[in-house]
Amino acid sequence: MSVPPRIGFIGLGIMGRAMALNLVKSGFQVSVYNRTRERTAEFADLGCEVASTPKALASMCDTIITMVSDPAAMRAVIDGPEGAAAAFSGGSTLINMSTLSPDYTVELSKKCFAAGVAFLDCPVSGSKGAAESGQLVILAGGGAEALERASPVLRAMGREIVHAGPVPSGTALKLCINLIVAQLTTALAESAALAQAQGIDPGLIFRALALNPALNCGYFALKKDNILKREYPPAFPLRHMLKDARFMLQAAGKKRLELPVTAAAERLMTRALDSGYGAKDLSVVLDNLTEPLREKENA
Ligand code: NAP
Repeated sequence: MSVPPRIGFIGLGIMGRAMALNLVKSGFQVSVYNRTRERTAEFADLGCEVASTPKALASMCDTIITMVSDPAAMRAVIDGPEGAAAAFSGGSTLINMSTLSPDYTVELSKKCFAAGVAFLDCPVSGSKGAAESGQLVILAGGGAEALERASPVLRAMGREIVHAGPVPSGTALKLCINLIVAQLTTALAESAALAQAQGIDPGLIFRALALNPALNCGYFALKKDNILKREYPPAFPLRHMLKDARFMLQAAGKKRLELPVTAAAERLMTRALDSGYGAKDLSVVLDNLTEPLREKENA
């Protein structure tokens, strides 16, 4: 990018806040929009312009980055009279970094193409800590030239970019990665529940895993406190992983591919959502698994 981009960042949640702050720290000119205005206050204090609507944001920027919950949130910030698309101008770029469905990602790219806007789907691998430290792995879909132009911006938020192919390849790859994350998390929770049922200290699971180089996975260390303390401050909210699991099953279903273990994880996460745990970290599924044990203890 020879002329520095004017970046408009939409969605200052757990991930977006940290990513936008890293763009500011890297010296980019960043303006922001967030549905809940209070979340923009720290950006205003840093000298960023705060737009009152996504349309107003798009009219003052040439590169829009979105990091919102899901397709419904994306439609809310893109479509309609106050949506960003109402101010799309030819030559701009939209980089979506939220995890959306592949189908909706294609729909978005068509909308951008019609408006002369370059589109990249760039969901991320890595959670709150990686977003804060700028260590995300960016899973990119789109044209090589547009990706090359956007790479200085992406590198301010992540340490590596994996170009998976044309749109929606970034999203497709993200679902493959999150399939593993969902199963690792549910596996940890089931293992801890089984340990408890057998009168074994769940802390020993983590100790034994860490001692085996083949099983010493950084992700287990990230979730250790959640599992052992049974506290679930949201790094990756359960409702977002449930959304992703449903996208995985839809994508597989379209090709008549069965994902029986992912389907079981989806059912467990649905139970957790129905228990009111949607905003907690996805490791909260442990509480659903151990409910029968607690009931027995309390009887
Ligand atoms: P989050 O903390 O729940 O933030 C969601 C953002 O979307 C907030 O800015 C929220 O605005 C906005 N939003 C939601 N519904 C909206 C609507 N109807 N209209 C306008 N804005 C709306 O989520 P997050 O954890 O940052 O995740 C963001 C995306 O990244 C998700 O797609 C998630 O799957 C993906 N992701 C998350 C992680 C992780 O570890 N957390 C890791 C990789 C990828 P308000 O502030 O007004 O609520």
